[in-house]
Amino acid sequence: MFDRAYLECPKCGRHTIVKNGEARWSCINCDFSRDLNANDAGPLNLLLLMAMTALAIALVAELLRPPIQPRRSSDRISPSLVQTPPPLQ
Ligand SMILES: [Zn+2]
Repeated sequence: MFDRAYLECPKCGRHTIVKNGEARWSCINCDFSRDLNANDAGPLNLLLLMAMTALAIALVAELLRPPIQPRRSSDRISPSLVQTPPPLQ
């Protein structure tokens, strides 16, 4: 019943994990310690970084891509420009 007060240490296997700070757990038997905040922030930061990178790539691809030519309007205009009657001289 005393052991239940402590979490089992994954390193030494003894129930000697105590809360040591805001979100930091450490073993009083060995030097094991784990920061829960750091573990939570890690994957989130990585995900954010990946999202930012994907966004940056999309933005660069958008900038590098040539502008969309309005084909229909140009097709409509160009024949009339081409088929201008030659000057009668
Ligand atoms: Zn330990």
